[in-house]
Amino acid sequence: MNKSCILLFSGGLDSILAFHLLKPQGIDIMLLRFITPFFNPKLKNFPKDSNYKEIELGQDYLEVIKKPKHGYGKNLNPCIDCKIFMLKKAKEIMKKEGFGFIATGEVLGQRPMSQKKDTFRLMEKEAGLSGLIVRSLSAKLLAETLPEKEGLVDRNKLLDIQGRSRKVQFSLAESLGIKNYFTPSGGCLLTDPGFSARLKDLIDTQGDFSLYDIELLKLGRHFRLSKKKKFVVSRSEKEALGLLKLNYQGIVIKPKENSWIVGVAQEGADITEALSVFGHYARKALRKKRFCVELISKGKKETKDIECSDSLAIKPL
Ligand code: SF4
Repeated sequence: MNKSCILLFSGGLDSILAFHLLKPQGIDIMLLRFITPFFNPKLKNFPKDSNYKEIELGQDYLEVIKKPKHGYGKNLNPCIDCKIFMLKKAKEIMKKEGFGFIATGEVLGQRPMSQKKDTFRLMEKEAGLSGLIVRSLSAKLLAETLPEKEGLVDRNKLLDIQGRSRKVQFSLAESLGIKNYFTPSGGCLLTDPGFSARLKDLIDTQGDFSLYDIELLKLGRHFRLSKKKKFVVSRSEKEALGLLKLNYQGIVIKPKENSWIVGVAQEGADITEALSVFGHYARKALRKKRFCVELISKGKKETKDIECSDSLAIKPL
């Protein structure tokens, strides 16, 4: 084994600290960052002059989200399966590019689902990486890994952090002059209750979903109309532009007069229902109850005068 590793790097403080614990030991480190359809924060800070690689996860990653072998966490976050998937990808690169081992910034007991001793072991085993993952921040509390046994990593220079408190990490960051990092736990949409509810609705009604569906879920207010059809209304001009850019394969509804509010209904949706929801929000945006809307579908446009009611018959998801 050689003195080099792939560090799974989220850009959060723990993975930055993992880097700072290993680098002074003369280990050649490649930072590997996974971008998922649910988690793609802008990096605020990462170690300068480091070897860095990004991998964008797509359809094969979605399959893991749909049927996670180890189940979901509090929301629709299948953290164990997600990490195994990423570890397997990292292992492929490790083998192909000749790195010696994998490192992570995971902290024992920091998260209830995926950061327990037995879960660490399970993930290593399923990814085919037993003994090859150095978790620098908690290493002294975990079994010795192969790189430690072989003297490539000095265990005495690693840490014994555990639990949810991040006091030790913050003071370490201060002593190392690390600033502007983000908190990764807040970033993944799969841990967000609102997003998870919309995704669950998609799984329950459609049974399946695509990357396109996920992009749509990120925008607007979502309504489930009768006959299992979906209707989405923008909440801002940015979202309206986003919805139009997605080139929705259905019916686009927008006021004839220029406005930032846009609705998109799945093909086959009950247009009367969709217009009633749309009118409720457009009324507020246009500050009037009666106006003309355009319905655009497959390049054809028709106009309709609508009168909006004050109440909303369907609740957003
Ligand atoms: S929080 Fe999201 S990105 Fe992180 S392990 Fe869980 S599912 Fe994966």
